[in-house]
Amino acid sequence: MRQINNFINGEFVASSSGQRFDKRSPVDNQVIASIAEAGQGEVDQAVTAAKNALTGEWGQLGTNDRVDLLYGVADEITRRFDDFVAAEMADTGQPHHVMTHAFIPRGAANFKVFADIIKNVPTETFHMDTPDGRGALNYGMRVPKGVIGVVAPWNAPFLLMTWKVGPALACGNTVVVKPSEETPLTATLLGEVMNKVGVPKGVYNVINGFGPDSAGEFLTRHKDVDAITFTGETRTGSTIMKAASDGIRDVSFEMGGKNAGIVFADCDFDKAIDGIFRSAFLNTGQVCLGTERVYVERPIFERFVAALKDKVEGVTLGRPTDNGVNYGPLISHEHRDKVLSYYVKAKADGATIVTGGGVPDMPGELAEGSWVQPTIWTDLPESSAVIQEEIFGPCCHIRPFDSEEEVVELANASDYGLSTTIWTENLTRAHRVAAKVDVGITWVNSWFLRDLRTAFGGSKQSGIGREGGVHSLEFYTEMRNVCIKM
Ligand code: NAD
Repeated sequence: MRQINNFINGEFVASSSGQRFDKRSPVDNQVIASIAEAGQGEVDQAVTAAKNALTGEWGQLGTNDRVDLLYGVADEITRRFDDFVAAEMADTGQPHHVMTHAFIPRGAANFKVFADIIKNVPTETFHMDTPDGRGALNYGMRVPKGVIGVVAPWNAPFLLMTWKVGPALACGNTVVVKPSEETPLTATLLGEVMNKVGVPKGVYNVINGFGPDSAGEFLTRHKDVDAITFTGETRTGSTIMKAASDGIRDVSFEMGGKNAGIVFADCDFDKAIDGIFRSAFLNTGQVCLGTERVYVERPIFERFVAALKDKVEGVTLGRPTDNGVNYGPLISHEHRDKVLSYYVKAKADGATIVTGGGVPDMPGELAEGSWVQPTIWTDLPESSAVIQEEIFGPCCHIRPFDSEEEVVELANASDYGLSTTIWTENLTRAHRVAAKVDVGITWVNSWFLRDLRTAFGGSKQSGIGREGGVHSLEFYTEMRNVCIKM
C-alpha cells in the first residue's frame, strides 16, 4: 500500500507523532494509501520553511527565472501526465476521460497561464502636479504577499489546488498546501515535480490532515501565514475567516453554490439538454458550478424533463478505467450519507421522482463503493431544503416558469451566488438576463467554458474576492506605490 508523507522543505517526511490515517477508494471502499497526519510540529516546520524560502534563493530570483521554473513545472506535469491521471482517478474514482480532458491538463495550464501573466502585466504610473511646478512621478510595484496558506477541497483536487499555487508562486510567494484528507495524492506528486524541476526547497510544502483540531486549523491559525486562499464549503469558510481575523490576514474564498440553469423555450433544445446534463451530473454532481436548480419555460417543460430523464438513464457506471464508463461514485460514504439525506427529504417534501432517488445495485466489490443514482425531481416547493441548500450530488430539480421576470426572481432567491447557465437563441434576452442574475459567473449556451484570464468567484455566500488572470494578482501581491518628487 502507498505510504504518503508530508512534503516539507523539499523532503517527504512522516509525522513525529507517527499518526497516520487511511485513504479509501470511492469505487470499492478498499484502503489505497496510508497518509501521515501533520501535527502542530509539522505545520510549524512547513510554515518556517516557506518563510525562510522568501528570503533565500527563491526570493532572489528575477521574474524571468521564476517564470522559467514554472514553465518547467507545467512541462514536468505534462511529462508525468499518466501518473497524475492515475493518482487523481484513485483518489476520486471519476472516469478516465474526465481526468485526461479536463482536470489534469488544467493543472499544467494553471502554471503556464499565470507565468505568462506575471511576465506581461504592466503596473500603473501617474504623473502629478506640484506647487513648485516640477511635479512628481508615482509608480506602482507588486511585491509578494509572503507565505500563502492554501486549503483545498476534494472535488477536483489537482485543478483547484494548482489554481491557487500557480498564481501564488508566479507572484513570488511561497505556499503551504493542505489538500483535502479525501484526496492527498496529486498534491504529493507535485512535490516530486517541484524537486525534479529545481524549485528551491521550502517554496512548495504539503501538510496532510483534517480540518478542525488538525492540519487545516493549525495552518489557518498560524501567525506566520500571511494570507489564506480557501476553496470549500461556506461553513468552513466562516470558521477560517474567524481564524484569519487574528493578525488581520487576507482571505480569498471560493465556496458553495446552488446554481440555477435557465432554459428558455427558444433555446437550441439538444444543446440545452447536453449542457444541463453536464452541468448537473459531471463528476457525479460534485462541481461547485453545477446546476441543482433547473428552470424551464413552460412550453418545452414536459419535453425537456423527458429528454433529460432519457439522457440520465443512459449513463454507464463502473470503475474509472473501464471502457465506456462516464459516471463515477461520490467521494466517500460520509458524503453519500449527506446526499442520500436530501433524497429522503425530497420524498418527504412531496417531490415527484422522475428518475433515480436511491442507491444502484453494483456488482461484486463495487457494492462497497459510494454509489448513488443520478436523480431528477419535479414538483418541490421552492422553500424545500432540497432547493435551498447545496447538496453537491448528482441531482437536480426541474420547475416550469412563465416569464423572464419570474425566472430571474427564482434564480436570485438563494443565499448563494456562484454561477448560472442560460439557454436561449435570443441574445438580447441573454444579455438582459445575465445582467440581472446575482452571480459571479454567467454562461450563455455553455457551461464550464473557462478562459483562465477571466475573473472567477462568487457573490453572496459563494465567496470573497476574485481569482483568475490579473485578478489573482490583487490577492497574491501587495501593491506598493513609490512617489518621486522631480
Ligand atoms: P470542506 O469545506 O469540507 O473542506 C475543504 C478543505 O477545508 C479541506 O481541506 C478540509 O480539510 C479543510 N477544512 C475543513 N474544516 C477546516 C477548518 N475548521 N479549518 C481549516 N481547514 C478546514 O469542503 P469539501 O467538502 O472538501 O468541498 C466541497 C465544497 O467545496 C462544496 O461546498 C463546493 O461547492 C465547494 N467548492 C467551491 C468551489 C468554488 O470555486 N467556489 C470549487 C470547488 C468546490
